[in-house]
Amino acid sequence: MPGSVPVPDLSGAYGGSAQAPDIVQQGDITIKGASQWGPQHKVISDTVGGLKNALAGGGNCAAWLTQGFTANAEYTTYYGSLTEFLEDLPRYIAYADISGGGKINAINSNIVVGYNILINTNGAFFGAGEGAVATGDRYNDFLKNIRGGTVAGREFILLHEIGHLLNVPGFRSDDLRNEGNHKANNDAVWQNCGDLLMRQR
Ligand SMILES: [Zn+2]
Repeated sequence: MPGSVPVPDLSGAYGGSAQAPDIVQQGDITIKGASQWGPQHKVISDTVGGLKNALAGGGNCAAWLTQGFTANAEYTTYYGSLTEFLEDLPRYIAYADISGGGKINAINSNIVVGYNILINTNGAFFGAGEGAVATGDRYNDFLKNIRGGTVAGREFILLHEIGHLLNVPGFRSDDLRNEGNHKANNDAVWQNCGDLLMRQR
């Protein structure tokens, strides 16, 4: 794996007969039942689809993500454009019951081999808990209005994870345990994609 850039696992995850391991433990984080099937994955792919359509119109957010996309030979080898990448993105994403390690909405890692992004079924993407999906620093006053379980909230979580996956310039890879990095990344998502998140739907 060259550098720290996450490489897509093109083995197609567990679409065939193979099964993801039911429980994966890493440090204090436990991941159970990672899956790409059923209504929960449809919510994920529908959210990716909405983002793809909105990003196809151009704008700040598309330009920001495209900077990451074009710098990654790992992706440009397989996909001709950000839109093509987003079309295929749902097969890199699974949902799972993630516990431990604090409040986690999603994990960007192939801890469960075959998946690059894991969305926590107990996190804000699916609406668990009240309140904001993210905390920021400079832009926290805006971020605090983006609530869990809403389309904007889901899009925010996915844009943050896509930021990691594409390694967009300035995005910090180590933010799971680092609150400062985590807030800086959330600020970057708002700064570049706030207008897209607040668009008329
Ligand atoms: Zn992050």
